[in-house]
Amino acid sequence: MSKKIHKIAVIPGDGIGKEVMPEGLRVLRAAAERFGIELQLTPIAWASCDYYQATGAMMPDDWKAQLQSQDAILFGAVGWPATVPDHVSLWGSLLKFRREFDQYINLRPVRLFEGVPCPLAGRKPGEIDYFVVRENTEGEYTKLGGIMYEGTEREIVIQESVYSRFGSDRVLKYAFELARSRERKHLTVATKSNGIAISMPWWDGRADAVGAAYPEVTVDKQHIDILSARFVLQPQGFDVVVASNLFGDILSDLGPATTGTIGLAPSANLNPERNFPSLFEPVHGSAPDIYGRNIANPVAMIWSAALMLDFLGHREAHDAIVTAIEQVLVEGPRTGDLGGQASTTEMGEAIAARLGAR
Ligand code: ATP
Ligand code: MG
Repeated sequence: MSKKIHKIAVIPGDGIGKEVMPEGLRVLRAAAERFGIELQLTPIAWASCDYYQATGAMMPDDWKAQLQSQDAILFGAVGWPATVPDHVSLWGSLLKFRREFDQYINLRPVRLFEGVPCPLAGRKPGEIDYFVVRENTEGEYTKLGGIMYEGTEREIVIQESVYSRFGSDRVLKYAFELARSRERKHLTVATKSNGIAISMPWWDGRADAVGAAYPEVTVDKQHIDILSARFVLQPQGFDVVVASNLFGDILSDLGPATTGTIGLAPSANLNPERNFPSLFEPVHGSAPDIYGRNIANPVAMIWSAALMLDFLGHREAHDAIVTAIEQVLVEGPRTGDLGGQASTTEMGEAIAARLGAR
């Protein structure tokens, strides 16, 4: 039987994306070698502000055709506001991928590691360990609406939200599946059915309907206000949290913020049906303020690569990378954001070495 070769587009992008990507690849290669995984890596220099400066566009016209045949996209960071406005670089690359490749799940693991100071007093590793699943394509983020009597005293603004049964059911289904695969099998549904009187009660109803197929998953629905407070006050109560686009956007920043530095947080933008490539990237941006000094924390990039391997069917390789990250966070070397003095490269090498890289 011939073994599956995974085709990966590698897009470092801008700023520290170009510094953390080599470490992501170093660890990815080490894991691939150890677990006998075949990867075909295609480096891509576009989807970057350098490319924009040279050509006047963020990507070539045939970008979609070039990426369509890939199994996944490993992405660094995009944005270099000194030369290209953020809305141009972002809308010209990353947001196109999300939309055109129907990456309707934004997945963020939230986990407190041993050895990382927690901004929440008294929290121990193991007490913060959950996933935020954000709907990525509809909900509150639309351009539907308008302004009447603009510029007058009678100005009226309407901004619509959109929830489709198709769009809600598919993200809820993904969240239930994820919850079922976890030990605790618990799903928290973010809602606001006491204030948003039409869409949110409906969303709660879709959660009940989809959840009927998952009797082994326990469910609680929490209003977004108290849910946010509990992210801070009682994070140990969460396992998988599913939320609409806006609520998920907020939760997926709040969650990682409770676990230490932004240099650790990974994310995945998924098309679970695999009709299109999914994209894996650190939560952080291009960090122009620290670029060029080889001091960025590479863990968010490395963990994103691990999420990619998991999505490609290699759970054991994912787990081994996360274990290597755990060990290095405890024993060092650590980058400056973690209170250490190591370089990006040193930290990446240490994690790769734990996987058996020479
Ligand atoms: P975005 O444009 O993606 O919303 P941003 O440009 O506002 O984000 P980041 O680029 O994520 O923000 O940087 C925010 C802060 O966090 C900066 O001070 C940056 O130096 C720091 N930072 C970001 N990533 C890392 C990292 N991997 N290691 C250490 N510090 C980081
Ligand atoms: Mg930025």
